Amino acid sequence: MTELLPGGVAYVDGDYVPVEEAKISLLDLGFLRSDANQDTVSVWRGQFFRLEDHLDRFQRNIGRLRMTAPLDRDEQRAVLMECVRRTGLREAYVQMLMTRGRPPVGSRDIRLCTNNYVAFCLPYVWIATPEKQAEGLDLAISSTWRIPPESVDPTIKHYHWLDFQMSLFAAYDQGRDSTVLIDRHGNLTEGPGFNLFLVKDGVLSTPDDGVLDGMTRRTIWELCVETNLRHRAAALPADSLGQADEVFICSTAGGIMPVTRVEGAAIGDGRPGPVTLRLRDLYWSKREAGWHATPVDYA
Ligand code: PLP
Repeated sequence: MTELLPGGVAYVDGDYVPVEEAKISLLDLGFLRSDANQDTVSVWRGQFFRLEDHLDRFQRNIGRLRMTAPLDRDEQRAVLMECVRRTGLREAYVQMLMTRGRPPVGSRDIRLCTNNYVAFCLPYVWIATPEKQAEGLDLAISSTWRIPPESVDPTIKHYHWLDFQMSLFAAYDQGRDSTVLIDRHGNLTEGPGFNLFLVKDGVLSTPDDGVLDGMTRRTIWELCVETNLRHRAAALPADSLGQADEVFICSTAGGIMPVTRVEGAAIGDGRPGPVTLRLRDLYWSKREAGWHATPVDYA
């Protein structure tokens, strides 16, 4: 039995290594050109959530980026399992990535790159910790546009993140917890690592365009159907956020997380709203009961 590595394990070049020892080439275009695609799946109470859906989305995006995965789906699933098993973590954040790789020495022909697959498992990551969620987040609305979908497809889970990163710095400078970016029409999109929802007059709304088709967003849709909650995807002007009864963000990294202030101003009574809390409770209780679950084999 190998020694467990609860700090994290990576799979690189066919080997499992402690995550801090994992390396990829400086010349990989994933690094030099942000030419990469990732997917992140969580493990909670020893069970992957929607593992097959994440593998589907990953495969779809590999195709869109004209990459070829060196491992087939069964092998990828086995790698993710093994990464988690080697950490022994029951609550984990598991990422799979494809990078373009590097072209032959002296060439810039991206068609000649050997694409690279890597994966890693870390302790579970929260965009907002449960303590932070108790008070709710304060969101900035960034004046920065999210990269338009016509330029970079937002349904590819890519790392073109400088719009997010710089908006996040600006939000921190203003004392906010995170940021949501608008598009060039002034409509809300998403934030660094999350989709956005608002509740107004009992109807749940989320931006319909220029965003990742988040797995948690999809899960919330299913919860809405199950609980007869009216829901829609639509263009949402930036000012609809401040006028909402409730706001929350959602991500694999943290689930459903209440937002209680926008630009410092309280939403509703300034406390996490009842619809948000009901959905959040349902999300976690159903996960713990094995909904969309694939158990990790720790043996
Ligand atoms: N939007 C962006 C830009 C993201 O990076 C993420 C997750 O990392 C999400 C939304 C939420 O997606 P998911 O629910 O699949 O984690």
